[in-house]
Amino acid sequence: MRKSTKGEAMQSDILYLLHGADQAMSAYDILAVLRKAAPRLAPMTVYRALKTLCANVQVLRIESLNAYALRQTEDTDGPVILSICDECGALRETVAPEVLVSLTRMAQQSGIEPTHHVVEIHGQCSDCGTADLNSRGHLTAPDEDRKQKHSRGTHDQ
Ligand SMILES: [Zn+2]
Repeated sequence: MRKSTKGEAMQSDILYLLHGADQAMSAYDILAVLRKAAPRLAPMTVYRALKTLCANVQVLRIESLNAYALRQTEDTDGPVILSICDECGALRETVAPEVLVSLTRMAQQSGIEPTHHVVEIHGQCSDCGTADLNSRGHLTAPDEDRKQKHSRGTHDQ
């Protein structure tokens, strides 16, 4: 059996940690937990492992929270639209390439050639309660039965 490298060991530690977490974790949180077992662990080691995990589409970076979570959608390596409950931290990934195509076109029309998309929607999940069915501007995707109170950056018109 091939001996795993230090980097690979770090990556599986992080995956294990994120798997057990019920919310996204910041790199600092991850470092703090891992340091309980390895007090001299360098932040750079954690950052490097996170970068690899993101590149391998195993972990998702949530820009607006400056945090990381396990990637849920396995059937695509393309960008996803993230819906985030501000109450409980629940995350939902939506694969909607047509929305991203529209956003690309919109950016191009304003003179920016996009290199990547970050679309994150904040709101309240149905478990947390008061999401308003009639709220304007919520994202509707075929597999999206949730309601967002505050939708931003997802209009394709
Ligand atoms: Zn919630």
